[in-house]
Amino acid sequence: MNNNKNLKKENNERIFINKELIHFSFDQHNEPVAYAKNGDTVQFCCQDCYCNQVHQDGYEFKKMDMSRNNPATGPLFIKDANPGDILRVEIVSIDIHDSGSMCARTGAGIYDIEGNHCRKFKIEDGMILFDQDIKVPIRPMVGVIGTAPKGEGISTQIPGEHGGNLDIKDLCEGTTLYLPVNVDGALLSIGDIHAVQGDGETVICAMEVSGDVIVKLDVLKEEKKVPTPFIVTKEKYITVASDESLDICSKMAAQKMHEFLQNHSALSDIQSGLLLSISGNLRISQVVNPKKSCVMDFPIGLANEMFNI
Ligand code: CA
Ligand code: CA
Repeated sequence: MNNNKNLKKENNERIFINKELIHFSFDQHNEPVAYAKNGDTVQFCCQDCYCNQVHQDGYEFKKMDMSRNNPATGPLFIKDANPGDILRVEIVSIDIHDSGSMCARTGAGIYDIEGNHCRKFKIEDGMILFDQDIKVPIRPMVGVIGTAPKGEGISTQIPGEHGGNLDIKDLCEGTTLYLPVNVDGALLSIGDIHAVQGDGETVICAMEVSGDVIVKLDVLKEEKKVPTPFIVTKEKYITVASDESLDICSKMAAQKMHEFLQNHSALSDIQSGLLLSISGNLRISQVVNPKKSCVMDFPIGLANEMFNI
């Protein structure tokens, strides 16, 4: 479906990070693999979450080198990004390869599944050939995207305030993600592309694919702060929270949106609460990572005249 060489040739200005430049922890001590500046466009080439180890249908999960699970390509150092800034990442495109993998196993995910099952799926003309009778349309998205946290590194398996393993299906083409800059250069990394994922990611994985993600980067210094990680799609504002407890992260995601409405409009706390209760959607994005993630969305259309961001 894509051709890296052609992409590179068509746009010599674009910064290109190849798929071998990976790590497994968002960490301020990771050496940058590339450098960018405010306004640059960057292409992250990504292996799938299994480091492309699932070569065939029926692959035995026990053979997998689990130390190579969930790689993120990067980190990218953004020269103008300093602690306290916000990094705006516009997902310009996600170009996926033509096959996907899924591994389900006992003890992972929320179903009682016997044994280990790895399957490989062809992707043709925008559809996953799930079996003879079922074709599933793709909606490519990024599972892992984040900046380095202050202090100790955080595994690429874990979501948090720095981003990381968020697995939010809204992180697709055309979406903008706001991430905190915690350390000099931000140290942005991207991986774990999904051809498509449902809310919850309930079996433990999505349709895992390798591919290329092109992003445009802007460092925000003076603008009103948004509650990171923060997502803007064509239709929605989305707040995000992650925690071991679904009760806690659902409450946090909703409270972040409640606060956002008050900080960026003339709405009072009561008005914001009333409006969110009739127009906002509190959703689970994933329940299978070491921390679970919830999102609260609010329709931009309703807010066009109202917001000051
Ligand atoms: Ca993931
Ligand atoms: Ca994944």
